[in-house]
Amino acid sequence: MKIILITGASRGIGAATALLAAEAGYAVAVNYCSNAAAAAQVVEKIRAAGGTAAAIQADISREEEVMKLFSETDRLLGRLTVLVNNAGILEHQMRLENMTAARLNRIFAANITGQFICAREAVKRMSTKHGGSGGAIINISSVAAKTGSPNEYLDYAASKGAIDTFTIGLSKEVAEEGIRVNGVRPGFIATDIHAAGGEPGRVERLKSSIPLKRGGSAAEVAEAVLWLASDKAGYSTGTFIDVSGGR
Ligand code: NAP
Repeated sequence: MKIILITGASRGIGAATALLAAEAGYAVAVNYCSNAAAAAQVVEKIRAAGGTAAAIQADISREEEVMKLFSETDRLLGRLTVLVNNAGILEHQMRLENMTAARLNRIFAANITGQFICAREAVKRMSTKHGGSGGAIINISSVAAKTGSPNEYLDYAASKGAIDTFTIGLSKEVAEEGIRVNGVRPGFIATDIHAAGGEPGRVERLKSSIPLKRGGSAAEVAEAVLWLASDKAGYSTGTFIDVSGGR
């Protein structure tokens, strides 16, 4: 059975990806940071439909917790086939003048260091150089990497720019070792993340600026992720799918 680990899978895009992955026949490691009840619900839904899943707590910005996340995935489900580097955070909308170094460090630790060290642990397990049988890594970036998010979150947007560069570089580094590395750049997707930025109604406010004139759903992002994970995407590496309604 193929094993998929999805970081930040207790809600939003991660939870939708977990449910779709289970439908596609993966055993799913459902990582969460603080919301054990929401992660348990995702696992329960998968099991109720006859699938295999385990909830595993870890703050992906902390290296020792990432080590535990991967060893628990090994122990509970087996050797990893796919990593979805999905967990990410943003903080309240503000201009650069008001951003503290502490805030920048929190954003970069979760959105950059977290994805790097999760990918590192995945490569150790997937790479044919390390005795693995290959795999796929999908990094969740954002259209913000291209727009820069002025007046809202330059820090978040820049962290996603780093992820795009990381995706290109890592894809080349491990291409001959059976691992494909790709990115998905969502646009405005209806999830709780906008409330964390201080504006729960953000997608509604901005939808007229989207060529398709609506926000996207987490399930629509999950479809792109699962395609990149699958053998159907076997000739795609170091590339991106924008799920952004044309933005
Ligand atoms: P969300 O609804 O806020 O969910 C975030 C998830 O990440 C939760 O499961 C949360 O776990 C987990 N998480 C947060 N910090 C974590 C950490 N340090 N360690 C482990 N897990 C952590 O977010 P979302 O909208 O689904 O976003 C998912 C990804 O898509 C992010 O990378 C985000 O940047 C990207 N994205 C989203 C949008 C959008 O419009 N929604 C657009 C572009 C890109 P707990 O619930 O346990 O705290």
